[in-house]
Amino acid sequence: MRIASAVFLWVTVLSAATSSSQTRDTLDIYVIDVEGGEATLFVAPSGESMLVDTGWPGFEGRDADRIVAAAQDAGVTRIDHLIVTHFHTDHMGGATQLADRLPIANYLDHGTTVDEGERPRAAFDRYVTLRRGATHRTMAPGDLVPIDGLDVRIIAADGAVLTSALPGAGRPNPHCEEFTLHGEDILSRYGDAEDQRSVSAFIGFGQFRSVIMGDLTWNKEEPLMCPDNKVGTVDLYLVSHHGSDTSGSDALVQALEPRVAVMNNGPRKGGGPLTFDSLTRVETLEDLWQNHYAVGVGEANRPASFIANLQDFAPPTTNDDEASVHLGQAYWTHIAARRDGSFTVTNSRNGFSRAYGPATGR
Ligand SMILES: [Zn+2]
Ligand SMILES: [Zn+2]
Repeated sequence: MRIASAVFLWVTVLSAATSSSQTRDTLDIYVIDVEGGEATLFVAPSGESMLVDTGWPGFEGRDADRIVAAAQDAGVTRIDHLIVTHFHTDHMGGATQLADRLPIANYLDHGTTVDEGERPRAAFDRYVTLRRGATHRTMAPGDLVPIDGLDVRIIAADGAVLTSALPGAGRPNPHCEEFTLHGEDILSRYGDAEDQRSVSAFIGFGQFRSVIMGDLTWNKEEPLMCPDNKVGTVDLYLVSHHGSDTSGSDALVQALEPRVAVMNNGPRKGGGPLTFDSLTRVETLEDLWQNHYAVGVGEANRPASFIANLQDFAPPTTNDDEASVHLGQAYWTHIAARRDGSFTVTNSRNGFSRAYGPATGR
């Protein structure tokens, strides 16, 4: 009798778990705070998951723990697809610690690092050991990431960009006329050697459209977006390169016509004044959300409700140049997107949330 009721209970729990995963009808996106690195988790209605980047190494697995917390919130017990956009430590570094905590099935990246220093090579070698134990694919523009219910297409990888427009895109981009190369970058036409090789992706879910860029450089945005906009427009712009001023030209950001932008900046990393300024000029933009208060831009920061982590909200009393290290728990920005193109953004620190309807006039 006791065994029978235990079995009954187990069956009840199992069917409840199954029905909740079957009734998920949103694409859930977690912009995870990794203190100026990047980690963004996408979970399809099918439960299939894609993580883009793994944050920093060290800190006893701080960033891996934060990714696991988001995965648990989404009911995900493995990473089906890990995209490592490029081989900088703030994007690839947390992979080993994450793999200790969650199984990772498929590794997708741009192939081989071009950084030659001893430390970047050693970090890359550790990552290669990891991906050798799983399935690995080197991505190229136009490649699809097969996720049930989503349309995930690579738009840039290893320095190459789309050569033909995505379905429905390809109109002339009026913001190319004013395009100028960023900075006095005379050594490398396209900026930092690894950043410009970032794997960037378009993510579609029914009418909902988004892009994630990694650290793709400003100068590399030109061949992607000019003279024709090969990506089209988006509802959600996951702000490129932590909001650094060396990415995010008008040719990209204005042409995408985003309705909402979410910036994964750190207190002193990314979140540059040019980025705030250019996003302010995007007429279609209803809101910008930030993962951190950006110390360098003062009043350009959004109101606190829209900022997930506020540790440096007050001016620090210690040396202002020292990067602050925050350990332990942090807050994510969560987006629940629906097939009709509507979506809701929530700040996990305070539960503040805003709903955006389906796009009109496209
Ligand atoms: Zn970065
Ligand atoms: Zn980078």
